[in-house]
Order: sequence, then C-alpha cells, then structure tokens
Amino acid sequence: MSFESPRSAPSEGSCPAPAVPFSFELYPPRTVSSSEALRDTVLRLAQAGPRFISVTYGAGGSTGGRSLEILRFIRENTDVEPLAHLTCVGNTYAGATRLIREFLDAGILSFLALRGDPPIDESEPFLGDLESAAQLVQLIDRVQAARAPYEEEPVPGLPGAVRVSPRRRVSIAVAAFPKGHPRSAHRTQDVEALVAKQAAGATLAITQLFFHADDYLAFVERARAAGVTIPILPGIMPITSSARLNRVLELTGEDLPSELAIALQVEPTAEGRTGIGIEWAARLAREVVAGGAPGVHLYAFNQHTTVLRVLEDAGILHAVPTR
Ligand code: FAD
Repeated sequence: MSFESPRSAPSEGSCPAPAVPFSFELYPPRTVSSSEALRDTVLRLAQAGPRFISVTYGAGGSTGGRSLEILRFIRENTDVEPLAHLTCVGNTYAGATRLIREFLDAGILSFLALRGDPPIDESEPFLGDLESAAQLVQLIDRVQAARAPYEEEPVPGLPGAVRVSPRRRVSIAVAAFPKGHPRSAHRTQDVEALVAKQAAGATLAITQLFFHADDYLAFVERARAAGVTIPILPGIMPITSSARLNRVLELTGEDLPSELAIALQVEPTAEGRTGIGIEWAARLAREVVAGGAPGVHLYAFNQHTTVLRVLEDAGILHAVPTR
C-alpha cells in the first residue's frame, strides 16, 4: 500500500499532501440509504488527502460484497488508495483464495490481513483452515504471485492493441495491540505475533485504539527492541458518547479511561460530548506524532465531520475541505 506515498497527486480541489500522513477506516453500509450517505462521506474524506481509506470486513464473510462495493467506489471515484480488511476465521484455503482473487480482480492491491473474531453466539469457534493473520498474509502473497506478472491495458484509438505493464505488488498491513489482545496470555505475545506477521510479509501495522499516548509509544519501543521494523500506525477513535465508550471497552478489553468516562457522563449536550471526544482524540494524535508516530489512522464511524475536526484540532489538517 502506498502508505509512504499517495497513489497519485491529489486532484483539483483536494488538499495538497499533508506533512503528517493520515488515513481513515469505514465500515460497509447496512442499508441503501446509508450506502448513499457513505459515498458522500468517502468523497468528503478523500478531499482531505488521506494516504488510504480502509473498509472493514465482517468475520465469516458477512459483509464481503458490501465491503467490496465501497472499495470499488473509492477506487473509481477518488485518488485515494482503497485498503480492504480481510479476515480468515471460518474460511477454508480454497474459499480464502477465491476471495483474495475477487478483490485483486477488482483492482484492490492493499489489504489488512486479520484473523477476525468468531461470531459472539458461537461457543466453539470454527477457525477453518487459516488460524492466524500471519497465515493470511502469506496466502495473499501467494495468490498474487500466482497471477500473471504483467497486466494488459487497451490502447485508446488503436483497436486490438494492448499496453503491457508489470503488475504492482500487493501491500499487506496487519493489526497490532498496544495494550495486548484481550485473549493474549501475556504482553510479549502481542509483540511476538507482530514479529511473526512481519516475517510473513506484512509491511505496515495498524493499532487497535488506545486511550493514552504512552500505551502506543511503549508498545512501539517493545516492538522495535524485538526486531519489528515496519511502520506502526496508531489507530485513534474519537469517543463522542458514553454508549460508544462502553461498546469499545467491551470489544477491546481496554481499561476504563476514567477521566474521559466522567467528562462524557457529566456533559449534558450531545454537541458538548462530541467536542470532548474530538479534543481527546486530537490530543492523542498530537502526542503520538510528537513521539515519532509515522502518521495517524482515524476510525471514522462512516462520518466525515468528527474525524476532520480531530485532524484540524491536532494541527494536521489546516483547513477542513468544503464542497
Ligand atoms: P492474530 O495476529 O492472529 O492474533 C493477534 C493477537 O491475538 C496475538 O497476540 C494472538 O496471540 C492473540 N490471539 C488471537 N486469538 C487468540 C486466541 N483465540 N487465544 C489466545 N490469543 C489469541 N475484525 C473483523 O472481523 N473485521 C475487521 O475488519 C477488523 N478490523 C480490524 C482492524 C484493526 C486495526 C484491528 C486492530 C482489529 C480489527 N479486527 C477486525 C479485529 C481482529 O480481527 C481481532 O482483534 C482478532 O481477534 C485478532 O486479529 P489479528 O489479525 O490481530 O490476529
């Protein structure tokens, strides 16, 4: 993935490449009306000049088609690199291979390879053939390598003529857990998992959300000491309500950030709570960037206003683009 450099120069009307790279995460739409709203969000986020926009993927393939649809929209309507999350829980080698081919055929060349979480109601999770994200990294690499090394493009105005060019290699990112994965037995397990994913071919790590800059910075230090050399991009989520805070604590197993929890609880207005979430996320972004982070990755919740304001408050984006 072009985390180090954008896919192409920003188009007219979009912002010039920012000094601190940033990216966004979206999830696939659930209804027709949310699909239309999401397309508008994509266009607005793209105007800000992110390095990539990633789209989540439901474990077990529950959102596959809808994820690909929005990735295609990003690819065909913006200059931004679309990055596909892919999970391996519950998939066979043949199934995962078919899926990877489908994404490659759609022109998607950047992936976030994940183990995925089994559905909550399954007491005995079905892991399929692939059991870890590292195995999925290797499979994506193998599927790409098995494709023809060149691609053909028609030459406009010359019927039957084709231009042959070498295929771009896929880029594969992986997840990292600054405060440990909820199911890890001990802290070193997460650094070891990241070393294994790098050895399998990953070229970027994106972290789970965290609430204090030191959690991220200390994790990066431990990872570097263990031999991890790939960029570790901090994942930052603006938490704009107590309900959202409770939901992410449940999902991630993070400790309750009491200062933020109390601030959200005592603030009477939704607007005030949004401001608290933006301020917290912007401070985190400033602190991790000052500590050496290679950029920031924002969990956008399919909305552009909040994350763009976080970037503006953090001094990363100087003017929120308007249409
Ligand atoms: P691995 O790299 O295989 O494992 C990571 C760590 O978890 C290791 O330390 C490993 O030892 C430990 N671990 C994992 N499972 C177990 C276990 N059963 N017992 C003990 N230790 C275990 N999920 C989705 O379904 N769709 C998405 O789109 C998605 N996007 C994500 C994006 C980011 C940036 C992050 C951080 C997570 C995302 N997830 C997503 C969640 C992710 O799938 C889960 O956290 C999953 O449990 C671990 O995935 P992994 O790829 O890190 O797995």
